[in-house]
This record gives sequence, structure tokens and C-alpha cells, in this order.
Amino acid sequence: MTLHAPYDPDNIFARILKGQIPSVKVWEDADVLVFMDVFPQSEGHVLVVSKTSTARNLLEIEPEALAKVMEATRRTARAVEKALKPEGFQILQFNGEAGGQTVFHLHFHIVPRWADRPMKGHGHAPMADTEALRALADRIAAELE
Ligand code: 5GP
Repeated sequence: MTLHAPYDPDNIFARILKGQIPSVKVWEDADVLVFMDVFPQSEGHVLVVSKTSTARNLLEIEPEALAKVMEATRRTARAVEKALKPEGFQILQFNGEAGGQTVFHLHFHIVPRWADRPMKGHGHAPMADTEALRALADRIAAELE
């Protein structure tokens, strides 16, 4: 997938947004969906996507939709920090296959980090247990302001 290609309406996140495949939701509103990464690179790895934009990457997203996604990322990161008490966290966003992107609906990753816990590789982490993800999502959602 190059940086310049048509949006695939059947990409995994589009199917999650349409309710065609399940996800472990943290929260949503009219503009964004925040859900747990099913192959988490660390405990509490969360994804933030726009519901209104079909941008595949940062080059394509409309400024208004980006503002909503970034504010949702900030809000969720604050809740992740309160719930899980990481020592740090990373905001990741990949563009194009050569840039490490694997799902072509723009998204931001929130990856909590602890100094003594190595981060699992992007695209190489094992699938998480749904119940464990649900428990983490509930803890994060409980700290939303
Ligand atoms: P990208 O490589 O495009 O930046 O990130 C895609 C992310 O989506 C990866 O971290 C991957 O673990 C995650 N992912 C892939 N398939 C699914 C899925 O079916 N459900 C969820 N919740 N996450 C997924």
C-alpha cells in the first residue's frame, strides 16, 4: 500500500466502525472510537480512530477530524495514565506500508511504557485475551474526565 491509494471501505477498522467485527471499546462519541489493540505492544495499548474521516494517513485527514482525534488521544492518554500508572507512554502513528502501517484507516496508538518492561514489536505481539482487554478498557474508561 502506497501513501496514495483509494480508501478500502472493508479495511479492519472500517469493519469495526460498522460493527461487522467486534472490538473492545474504551469509549466513543460522534467523532471518534477508542478501542483496545488486540495485539498489544504493552499492557493498555489503545487505538484512536476517526468515525467521520476516511483518511488513510496523516496526509489525508481533514484538520477538523484530526483535531477531534488528537483531543481524544490526549483525553484517553490521561485516563490511561491514571488507570495503569505507566512511567511513560508513546503516541505512535504509522503512514504507508514502508512506514510500518498495516491498517489503512488513520489511527493513533497510545502505548503505555514501564522502564523494566520491554515493548513488544509492532505487528509481532501475541493476540490478547478478550476478557483481559475488557478489564483494562473498563479501568481506563473509569478514569475518563
Ligand atoms: P498500524 O500498523 O496500521 O499502525 O496499526 C494497526 C494496529 O491494529 C496494530 O497495532 C494491530 O495490532 C492492530 N490490529 C490489527 N487487527 C486488529 C483487530 O482486528 N482488532 C484490533 N482491535 N486491533 C487490530
